[in-house]
Amino acid sequence: MPRIYEMSPHLADLIAAGEVVERPASVVKELTENSVDAGARFITVEIAAGGMALVRVTDDGCGIAPEDVETAFLRHATSKLRREEELAAIGTLGFRGEALAAIASVSKIELRTRERGAAEGVCLTLEAGVKRDKAPVGTPEGTTIAVRDLFYNTPARQKFMKNDRAESAAVASAVTRLALSHPEISVRYVRDGKEELHTPGDGRLQSAAYCALGRDFARGLLEAQNKMDAIAVSGYVSTPAAARGNRSWQFFFINGRFIKSKLLQAAVEQAYKNSLFTGRFPVCLLNVELPLGAVDVNVHPTKLEVRFADERAVFDAVYWAVRGALEREDGPTELPISQSTLRAAGALDPKKLPGAPLFAPEKPGFSSVKSAPSGGFFRHVPVQGQSKAPRPVLPDFELRESIRMPDQSSIPLPGPARPIPSKAPEPDTAPAPDPEPAPAPRRDWRYVGEALNTYVLVERGESLFLIDKHAAHERMLFDKLKSRPHEPAGQLLLSPVICDVDGETAGVLLENANLLTDLGFELDDFGDGSVAIRAVPLDMDLSDPAGTLEEIAGKLRTGGKRDVEAMRDDVLHTVACKAAIKAGKRSDPQELTDLVDKVLSGQVRYCPHGRPVSLELTRSQLDRSFKRA
Ligand code: ADP
Ligand code: MG
Repeated sequence: MPRIYEMSPHLADLIAAGEVVERPASVVKELTENSVDAGARFITVEIAAGGMALVRVTDDGCGIAPEDVETAFLRHATSKLRREEELAAIGTLGFRGEALAAIASVSKIELRTRERGAAEGVCLTLEAGVKRDKAPVGTPEGTTIAVRDLFYNTPARQKFMKNDRAESAAVASAVTRLALSHPEISVRYVRDGKEELHTPGDGRLQSAAYCALGRDFARGLLEAQNKMDAIAVSGYVSTPAAARGNRSWQFFFINGRFIKSKLLQAAVEQAYKNSLFTGRFPVCLLNVELPLGAVDVNVHPTKLEVRFADERAVFDAVYWAVRGALEREDGPTELPISQSTLRAAGALDPKKLPGAPLFAPEKPGFSSVKSAPSGGFFRHVPVQGQSKAPRPVLPDFELRESIRMPDQSSIPLPGPARPIPSKAPEPDTAPAPDPEPAPAPRRDWRYVGEALNTYVLVERGESLFLIDKHAAHERMLFDKLKSRPHEPAGQLLLSPVICDVDGETAGVLLENANLLTDLGFELDDFGDGSVAIRAVPLDMDLSDPAGTLEEIAGKLRTGGKRDVEAMRDDVLHTVACKAAIKAGKRSDPQELTDLVDKVLSGQVRYCPHGRPVSLELTRSQLDRSFKRA
């Protein structure tokens, strides 16, 4: 029978160090969190050789009393937590009292600290957690902790370290998270003697993001704000066009603490549903403030994960913050937004735009509309305490119609003499041969023409808009199809269309008959790899039914384990894409009018794949290009 012994404190520290101190970046994280907790306004992080040779963190925080410096390095020694009840509402980043002990056990440490207002400071040195020296010292107010030769006494650990470059990169990311989570602190990062980052500490997230993430990141960002009950969400999200190929540009903070959260990630991505290609991820920088008691930070040794008392409420608050930002991003408006739209569309190099706003500011062009007494057209974004469950966001078109500027002349649209009949006639109404549409409401825009068989040109106010008619139409159709969920919305064909597809395609289609029926299809097995189409969703283009079915089958086939909702969307994408006005095809004037209306009112901004549908050129941009300004 093996005997049982209590571990020596040093052994326990070493084991704890394995959890808390994984690499130099973890040392940086723990030391800077202590600086934040100490009320620092300035924090400097210096490293040498990827942090393996040296990590030094200097702050101007409250300092440590000389009689407490040794205690700070004891395991479970903390100034942040006294009583059990306090654990339920932790307002500091640290509380476990393990970091200094853990770091000290695997390195050589020099601590210099002076309390605010104290005559002198103290210097303490330790090796592998054992005190070497302690003496009074002249040092600025605040604390400097230098950690040298990390893992020098645990060679096994040292072997796991990556090269300096990789470790430096991890440190940089820790510093970035610090800077973003505390814009009120000026953060400086020096690597091998070279300053890599210096944030102003002016309290503005924009400033910190600009310094830490660069101009590229700042491009195409929208402000997101929402307050629901006690949960406040603030920060920035990207336009769909500025999405990235991975999630490394998603930052979440809870009460100033950087965290990883599948829940928040899902809330954000849900809000972008149908505006992004699969494989594209929104960029975000979101801080969620909520009562300390509503979040448990004590679930993970490095506190990277948290638990929410009410996950649904947090999800909704974030979801609506993002939806609100995307809804407000009404592309075609006055100057500032137009630049961001252009940039998002890749049409302008932001470096060449003097004074281009870093972040999309409030859109002046629509602000008056938003505050319309009718409640504004953002009424689906719940204000405090309203609806909790995200529901489909339906554009409120009538409302916009009624508040369109009435004072400009309407110019009729030129178009083909013979309109293309509506694709979805009422059963008993033959397509009207009359090209005169119902008296058009007076519009505030003028149709200029169509260029390159693809782009509709429209003038409004002091701006010229180029609209990708296929992309815009595709979006409109997709939204229309989506807004009739779960009800058969098919149009019965006079006689079935027989499509020769291959056997496998036919098999996939018939296997998914339920889903397809739901969307308005009616398909029958016609044998020998043929399928009979008896009904199709409204609006579906019938010029190439076999091609459409093959494409749909392709999507269903790769659908595999995805949820039904995603597969439905995929099928609808195909239907919408096939039915949308093709580049080169002449368009029905009424169709075009609707399309322009929807684009200019901001209802249609991105095609279902996330490509922008319009580009605005303002007079001032054109004047500048022609040197008229
Ligand atoms: P925790 O942060 O969980 O309390 P640590 O081991 O990280 O545990 O730190 C132990 C204690 O040392 C802290 O509670 C704090 O009182 C003190 N301390 C550490 N770093 C600093 C600092 N930079 N400024 C002031 N006090 C500090
Ligand atoms: Mg700590």
